[in-house]
Order: sequence, then structure tokens, then C-alpha cells
Amino acid sequence: MAATNSKDFYEVLGVAREASPEQIKSAYRKAALQYHPDRNLEKKPEAEESFRAASEAYAVLSDPQKGAAGLGSRGFDSGFNASIFEEFQDILGDLFGFDEVLGGGRRRGGRQRGQRGADLRYDMSLTFEEAATGVNTKIRIARHEACEACKGTGAKPGSGTSTCSTCKGHGQLAYQQGFFSITRTCPACQGAGQVIRDTCVTCRGQGRIERERTLDVGIPAGVDSGTRLRMTNQGEPGTNGGPTGDLYIFLEVREHAFFERRGADLYCTIPISVTQASLGATIKVPTLQGEDTLEIPEGTQSGQIFRKKSKGMPNPHGGRGDLYISIRVVIPSKVSREQRRLLEQLGASLKVENKPAERTSSFFEKVKDIFG
Ligand SMILES: [Zn+2]
Ligand SMILES: [Zn+2]
Repeated sequence: MAATNSKDFYEVLGVAREASPEQIKSAYRKAALQYHPDRNLEKKPEAEESFRAASEAYAVLSDPQKGAAGLGSRGFDSGFNASIFEEFQDILGDLFGFDEVLGGGRRRGGRQRGQRGADLRYDMSLTFEEAATGVNTKIRIARHEACEACKGTGAKPGSGTSTCSTCKGHGQLAYQQGFFSITRTCPACQGAGQVIRDTCVTCRGQGRIERERTLDVGIPAGVDSGTRLRMTNQGEPGTNGGPTGDLYIFLEVREHAFFERRGADLYCTIPISVTQASLGATIKVPTLQGEDTLEIPEGTQSGQIFRKKSKGMPNPHGGRGDLYISIRVVIPSKVSREQRRLLEQLGASLKVENKPAERTSSFFEKVKDIFG
């Protein structure tokens, strides 16, 4: 076989002869992504050929010891050697699960790493007041827990385990596919490398059993619909020594009869009489902390908004929101003869020009305009 010209390697990777090691590495990553056989299922032979050529070029150009012509005719026909594979694995491992594909690498010791347990979800509904004050409560959940009898191993206590005969304890099986060696988790032992001799009777060899648990839950003040609380390590147990999952409590806060909530701020509408609006008054207003008073100045208009600072919902990050009160001046829908006489008298001295008024904005827009 003719010695491969070093210029070819640069051309294969599409880099200049004076390319830096970083440029060569980057060009190879690009080529490897483009030609990887798993991504070119329809044109597998061609892609394999291109992938092989790029890998060969990279192996030569990235190793200053070998020099540009060092490998020459040796090529890759005799098959990849393991050290080159490991080098590629370092470059490609993070690109697409290459640990699995390239196999035989140093990263995987043959044992499957423990898997984290599943997260659990619990939906909880709260009243508006409970959300405002926070609440300590108990919830009942069903979840799997590691079997106490066998400590989660699934083996009958004292019986122990024996080496898996399918994988000879490696936890993995290697297959040859094309020029790739593919490693798969052993199905007989799920990668543990060990199989149980006698199964635990309590959990029937599952290593886990379903349990009902009552948990104390502290709901902080100021939560809202959509708030998600996480209880660490209260989910399902992991496998092969993996960590326990978490429990998430999804909150739904029911609506209030007259308070509307936006973040930590509260909004409500309070009706007053025409005379209270005209002459001013002190009225009672409800707040989450009980009854409070509000000064209505004389000449208050319907739709006017007053703010009571820090009378809103507690803010989970500290402090409280505000309470905004929109005034609605109530016009009597029915008047007595005496009231009619007085209103007519009033009407004679009160003049309003009946001309279109400016459009009014919504409650929330107004609050933004006035209170910023
Ligand atoms: Zn096995
Ligand atoms: Zn058990």
C-alpha cells in the first residue's frame, strides 16, 4: 500500500497545514458529528468510511510524536486500537452518549451506576386565608421504599449474591457491529454484575415495597397557585445505591369572595353612598388581618383607588404587598318621595356638563398609573 501523504490528512479534516491543535480537534468533532454511523443510518457504509477517514486523520495530526507521516500505510484496516478509541471517547463522549457506542473505554468500569429514584407529585388545595397565613398540615402519600428485610438488595437475608453468569460479573455485554464495539447493560443482572441466589420474601426480590406515609408539611405564608414546594429525599428510592428522588407539592389556592390577588397585592371594590362620596366619611374596610378603617375625603369619585400599604399578602421573600381599594359610588335605584324632593333641590344647585368623558382604564391599569 502506498504511504499516505500527510497532506491528505489535512484535506480530510478540511484544515490548513498550519492549523493549531485546537483547530484540528474542532474540525474532527465536526466531521465526527456529521459522519457518525448512528446518524447516517441510510448511508451507513459511506458514512462509516468518512468517519473512519476523519478519525484516522485526527489520530495522526493530533499526535506530534507520530508526526504527519508516521501512521502512513498502517492505516486503520487492522482495526482501531483501544488507546485511540479512548482518545476519541474523551472528545466525543459529551456529544452523544458516546460512552455506550465506543465501548471498551476506561470510563466505564463495567458496573452500572446507581439510578436516582423517581420524583413524586402531590397536589394540594388551600384556602385563600391558609395561603395568607401559611399552614402546618399532614399529607398521606404512597411511595416505594427500600425493603427493610433485605436492605434493598432483594436477596433473602444471609443468602447473598453470586456472580452473573450472563456477563461474568462485568455488568455489560459487548457486541461487534461493523467496526464498532457496542456495549450494552447486561439484561440478566441490570448491570449489577451480581444476581440474587434466594429472593427476599418480604419484597419478592424487588428490593422495595410500597408504603403509605404521613408527612408533616409546612406551607409558608404567601404561596400562590402554581407554587411548587420540594421535599428533598421524600420520593422513590434509587436503584443500585442511587440517591432518593424528591417529593413535589403542587399548590392550588382557591379564590377569595372579594379579594383579587396579583402577586402579593390585593384588590377589592367597596361601595359608598353619594353623600359619603360628596361629604367625605370614615368607612370600615376588610383586610386579611381583620377590619381596618379608610378615610374617604370629600369629593371622592366612583372608581377612585386608595392604597393601604402592607395590607396585602405576605411576600415569600419578605414584607407584604399592598391592598388597593376601588370606590364605587352607589346611586340609589329607588328613592322615597322625601328623598326625591331633596335630590331635586340638590339638582337645582349642582350642574354637570353632559359631554363625553375620557375613556377610563381598568382597575389594574389605574393602580399602575397612580401608584407606579
Ligand atoms: Zn449480568
Ligand atoms: Zn426485601
